[in-house]
Amino acid sequence: MSYLAEVIVDVPTMQTDQPFTYLVPEELQEVIEVGMRVEVPFGDANRHIQGFVVGFPEETEYVERLKPIIRTLDLAPVLNTELLQLADYMKETTFAFKITCLQTMLPSVMKAEYQKKIVLKNHHHPVKEQFFATTDELDWQEAEERGLFKQLKNLREQNVVEVQYLVKNKNKIKTIRYVKSLVTAENLADVQAQINKRAKRQEQLVATLVENAAQPVAFYTEQGISTSVLNQGAANGWLTFDEVEAYRDPYQNRTFERTYSLKLNPEQEAAVAAILAAEDQHKSEVFLLEGVTGSGKTEVYLQTIASLLQKEKTAIMLVPEIALTPQMVERFKSRFGEAVAVLHSGLSQGEKYDEWRRIERGEAHVVVGARSAIFAPLENIGVIIVDEEHEASYKQDEAPRYHARDLAIWRGHYHGCPVVLGSATPSLESRARGQKNVYHLLRLSHRANPNANLPTVEVIDMKNEFVHKNTSTFSRALQEKISDRLAKKEQIVLLLNRRGYSSFVMCRDCGYVLPCPNCDISLTLHMDTKTMRCHYCGHEERIPHRCPDCGGDKIRYYGTGTQKVEEELQQLFPEARILRMDVDTTRKKGAHERILQTFGEGKADILLGTQMIAKGLDFPNITLVGVLNADTALNLPDFRSSERTFQLLTQVSGRAGRAEKAGEVIIQTFNPEHHAIVLSQAQDYERFYQQEMFMRHQSGYPPYYFTVKISCSHPEEQVAAKRMYQIAQQLKAELSSASILLGPIPSGVARVKNRYYYQLIIKYKQEPKLSGLLREILEISQRDQRQGLYVAIDNEPLNFI
Ligand code: ADP
Ligand code: ZN
Repeated sequence: MSYLAEVIVDVPTMQTDQPFTYLVPEELQEVIEVGMRVEVPFGDANRHIQGFVVGFPEETEYVERLKPIIRTLDLAPVLNTELLQLADYMKETTFAFKITCLQTMLPSVMKAEYQKKIVLKNHHHPVKEQFFATTDELDWQEAEERGLFKQLKNLREQNVVEVQYLVKNKNKIKTIRYVKSLVTAENLADVQAQINKRAKRQEQLVATLVENAAQPVAFYTEQGISTSVLNQGAANGWLTFDEVEAYRDPYQNRTFERTYSLKLNPEQEAAVAAILAAEDQHKSEVFLLEGVTGSGKTEVYLQTIASLLQKEKTAIMLVPEIALTPQMVERFKSRFGEAVAVLHSGLSQGEKYDEWRRIERGEAHVVVGARSAIFAPLENIGVIIVDEEHEASYKQDEAPRYHARDLAIWRGHYHGCPVVLGSATPSLESRARGQKNVYHLLRLSHRANPNANLPTVEVIDMKNEFVHKNTSTFSRALQEKISDRLAKKEQIVLLLNRRGYSSFVMCRDCGYVLPCPNCDISLTLHMDTKTMRCHYCGHEERIPHRCPDCGGDKIRYYGTGTQKVEEELQQLFPEARILRMDVDTTRKKGAHERILQTFGEGKADILLGTQMIAKGLDFPNITLVGVLNADTALNLPDFRSSERTFQLLTQVSGRAGRAEKAGEVIIQTFNPEHHAIVLSQAQDYERFYQQEMFMRHQSGYPPYYFTVKISCSHPEEQVAAKRMYQIAQQLKAELSSASILLGPIPSGVARVKNRYYYQLIIKYKQEPKLSGLLREILEISQRDQRQGLYVAIDNEPLNFI
């Protein structure tokens, strides 16, 4: 029993980034546990905020000044000891506030939302009738809508009303109302006598109640009985209602045929055995499973998990959001059934919360999900898998800037269980650790389906096409192969690489490109909505008819949007059935799934899309993959651009020829001699790894160096720049001479949402003082925040621009 509690409060600042002590009121003393959310007063007594209980101190110096906890928001901890410790690790390594880390771990419905209320202090005050209804409270928003602020302000000055801030608990549990029949053989005659003779519906109800006398039934309405008839029945004493808690199951209308383990090939078997052996010895070993596309990595995951489930262990499998296709979910659901919980951004908040509860209660033992699924509150974890470990989406690009792979490894240590990082194209960082035996390297060198081979890849130099007067998006070779596949009724995937590339409008007379008014970037043309849109701040405007600069009317569209390519493709192949998948066609919930399903069912010949088609598709009838513009990303000033291009080309090529039918890939490029293109043609990851490592070594980039990015932003350019230069000076004075500072320079997009960004990158090998120094910088920056200056620290940034 504790009468004091330490609470981390929902105020993300440096000053409040530590536990505050509160009194535990008597009625809560037996209730409150570490890891629960509570509502506490903070600062001004009327302000209530959410907090997390993190400890129970024995004593404190200032008991008389302490305030009591107001109420608990949970009846059981929502964060266990492990996750609370993980939050500490995250805070240390990402330079984020603890409260931000704690909130990131929970479904968003459990994040605090605050309600502002105006409360009448004296119940008998004459203004009650005028402003307040039956209660003495008035919702802030309602007061605003009714235009009462002026009067209320006066009343507040007279101390008649006060403003209160309350915590709103949003995690609503869904219930289903069951109907339980009270009609029995004994009372049936009485009940029938009660029926109003003209009421057909009552007769029908009683008949149904007799039919379902044995057990409660949820959906009487489906049998044509309305709620009002049921209510009447309840009033007559024929039935009772029972509210039963229910889960919102996003897959409830789908059935999954049960599948069983395939016979593994020797390489797969060795991989499963090595992972299981580590688990058996409680070793938190990290495995890097490097397997060519289609080599059966997923089957390795499935069988590893199956063995561990038999030992009553649980498992987490992370998948990049975009690869979390229905096909992937199906493979897990059909193998493990009810034991699987799926977490991804396509779920509603309520659905996510329900999946989370199934996990937390120990009802789901396998969690498949995108980045944040790493926080799944599983106990007794036997393995954590990070599929496509090289994917940049595993790193969160806002605070806390964590990498799910690092947290997976931390949790592996905590549970003494193996962690498996899988990829056909591992990140250079991970592959290098494999080289140094920090990670245990496992290889799958050929396709698992004995009838499948890696596709043949041909590189087409688009400069040549121009020479031969072909100005189409499609090279002659690709056009020929498309016709061929259409004739054979085989399927085609076409990738339009959107990285470093977009469609825009330009004035042919003066060259004016429409800029965003808030950001230093040109607006992107969206043909579906016929608008110009900013991809940074969301600003939207109509496509201009005249040039805003010179007044000329020669506004032209530039760039190859997917829609434009689709039109061109349709003209070339009028008979082809084309599906387009890009941000425009997948905006609606479930659209992504529908497109893939349609394609999988063979209802289209060509799937044309952006990066989102590169992953996870396993359709046997795809025999041709075309990459329309392989090199648009190669010119980006980011040292990872070759790596990303190689990964993308390999991933998308991997969609071809996954079963009996041989696959072919055409890569169109203007840089046919670039090593990322040449080696993706050879599908030789290992050689790419060696060449790229050599270049990283030469130019001093990760994995030879660690990196930290610091950025400053402010509405005025000089203010941001000045602070950045101060920070640079401080770093120069304190860091060793072996460390290198890049910058300060304006960020890649120098102005976003009317704020100017400056950045600085630190490259270092060993810098024991750095982390303390960065904390200091953050602390000082907190003071600047009042002047609108923000400083952000990104440890191991994935974007350098
Ligand atoms: P990856 O995850 O490496 O891309 P998958 O696990 O998706 O590979 O496997 C590719 C294809 O090979 C799938 O259709 C899968 O069913 C099949 N497959 C995997 N393992 C085997 C095996 N041992 N024997 C036969 N087919 C297999
Ligand atoms: Zn903008």
